[in-house]
Amino acid sequence: MMVKRPVTVPPVPYALRKLGEFAFIDVETTGAKPLTDRVTEIAIIRFHADGSQSRWQSLINPGVAIPAEIQALTGITNAMVRDAPSFFDVSDEVRRMLEGAVFVAHNARFDYGFVKNEFRRSAEAFTADVLCTVRLSRMLYPDAEGHGLDALINRHELHGFDRHRAMGDVEATAAFVSVAADDLGADAVVAAIKSLLKTPSLPAQLPTDALKNIPDSSGVYLFYGVNDLPLYIGKAKHLRERIRAHFSSDHMTPNDIRLSQELTRIEWLPTAGEFSALLLEAQLVKERMPLHNVNLRRRDKLGFYRLGDDATNAPLEWLSAAQISESYADLYGPFSDKASAKKWLTFAAREHQLCDHALGFSKPRSDAEPCFARQVGRCHGACDGTETASQHRARLRAALAHLALPTWPFTGEAVFEERDVANDRSDVLVFDRWCAVSGGARLPFDGDVYRLLKRTMGKTASKFRAAK
Ligand SMILES: [Zn+2]
Repeated sequence: MMVKRPVTVPPVPYALRKLGEFAFIDVETTGAKPLTDRVTEIAIIRFHADGSQSRWQSLINPGVAIPAEIQALTGITNAMVRDAPSFFDVSDEVRRMLEGAVFVAHNARFDYGFVKNEFRRSAEAFTADVLCTVRLSRMLYPDAEGHGLDALINRHELHGFDRHRAMGDVEATAAFVSVAADDLGADAVVAAIKSLLKTPSLPAQLPTDALKNIPDSSGVYLFYGVNDLPLYIGKAKHLRERIRAHFSSDHMTPNDIRLSQELTRIEWLPTAGEFSALLLEAQLVKERMPLHNVNLRRRDKLGFYRLGDDATNAPLEWLSAAQISESYADLYGPFSDKASAKKWLTFAAREHQLCDHALGFSKPRSDAEPCFARQVGRCHGACDGTETASQHRARLRAALAHLALPTWPFTGEAVFEERDVANDRSDVLVFDRWCAVSGGARLPFDGDVYRLLKRTMGKTASKFRAAK
């Protein structure tokens, strides 16, 4: 006979409390979108460091009608929330329950997004370390089928909780963590939580609260070393997560270890999005030349092939990014540097049976001397006159076609407004011919800017508008 688990929530095991306080939370909402939908119910159980628990729950008047299908799903009706407090009314209470604790929820990004946005509507910022129990379950039970709350409830026999109402789901989620610690040992659960939280081990020379107030928006961060010299500049979609990952033992690279030994100070600059972060990063790296940004400094070597017209002898000319400032016609690339361009061309020459002499790989010692590729049957004969120069050039053009730099789709500059609604920030970015424009001047071609522009235009072309 199966033993039924107790309905009451067992306390969080002692080993977990060493990681800090945990606030298990669940919100019910009017829909799935944190930016536009609203919270209708919140339940929180906080596990304190001394082993005690405190609970808080409330229906919330969302200020909008709850759609019928959501009422059916959650059992929370318009009538039930009519006299309930608004989020604003309870925001102090919610903050008191959550402040300084790890924010734990099943599908945590959902609940966190809603709570953060409700605080934003009250003109308040909210940031917490987030632990998702879906990811925890996946890490602890990698072979289990399904990690939704129902799957967990069935697998671990967590019966007796009031499903779909906020407190019932919070109880079931908290019970799952306790049961997992019973099954696998508290140490295994602690290790998994540490890994998911990317719990950082701070370099000893930094103050203990150095990572405390990092926002979870996108942005750029700077690491400084002795004499306040910049060591490293990075960009991030989520600053908080990214910076902490540099100091999390599970995720540290050899470069991170060296950085953390030299680091004396961290600075961060939030941006409205990935684009703004990328541009700011490129600009700061150029200005401040940090010691460890090897990849970014290599950007200077980037370049293109230009295909000459029929009158030129050498069909391909190598142009560095700095040399392409005026004309963008017949450019193919970008290649990270001249050597990798040559490597690509050697490969393409073989595949498309191009001529070694015509590509400049070798020089004929006499007129119409066949190139090596011709001698082994891999050249159509541009060298010995079997193929004309313009025929060869046409085939070369076809081989390069997929690398052609596209025509700039605007007559002049284009403007893109990047917005971060959750953090109330927006940046206006200007581009011209695949380059960023800053202070009225077009910046040199940058491979990362180009790739992000192409990707963003493909997805949201309508958000770009021509500059007046
Ligand atoms: Zn040849």
